[in-house]
Amino acid sequence: MQQRHLGRTAATQDPNKLIIDPFAPDDELDLLKPIDNLNAARVLILNASYEPLHVCSVKRSVALLMYEVAERVEDSDRVLRSPSQVFAVPSVIRLKKFVKRPYRQRVAFNRKNVFRRDDHRCQYCGVKSSDLTLDHVLPRSRKGSTSWDNVVACCHRCNAKKRDRTPEEANMKLRRRPFAPRFMFSSAYGVLPNIDPIWEKYLP
Ligand SMILES: [Zn+2]
Repeated sequence: MQQRHLGRTAATQDPNKLIIDPFAPDDELDLLKPIDNLNAARVLILNASYEPLHVCSVKRSVALLMYEVAERVEDSDRVLRSPSQVFAVPSVIRLKKFVKRPYRQRVAFNRKNVFRRDDHRCQYCGVKSSDLTLDHVLPRSRKGSTSWDNVVACCHRCNAKKRDRTPEEANMKLRRRPFAPRFMFSSAYGVLPNIDPIWEKYLP
């Protein structure tokens, strides 16, 4: 487990190594994707125990690495450039010291979290709104459960249109099957920021 971060980054995928390798073909350098906004990308922070803790900006992750509070676990395919240096942008970092933190393994099912899971979008028409309601996909009158996998965010218009019917009966298409989020980031970035596929193996 402690070793799982080692060995993933092959030489050809490591921008730092590529830059300092005098024999690396120049066209490989073009593969490096510079990142121009330090706040654009997100970095997953793991606890020392490898549990996911938080999601932060690249800027913050670089600071944590520089102060040696954290270590690199996975790099992204992007780089930061300065006139003289190229720095691989991390995708996953790990705190060196274990941080004790109340961590809820299961995400509480409630209105607010359903809206967060659904990115504040009606799951039928896709409209984004701060004034949404909840819809039971299989209506309550048909014993549809009030749970993560049967409740979705819905705008008032679609809710009125669907009434007491299933999406099929109402001829309305669900954009995505509802699901219980595996992990909720208690951060300003929302429940499920765009999850980098590299993070997958670290998420419960
Ligand atoms: Zn709608």
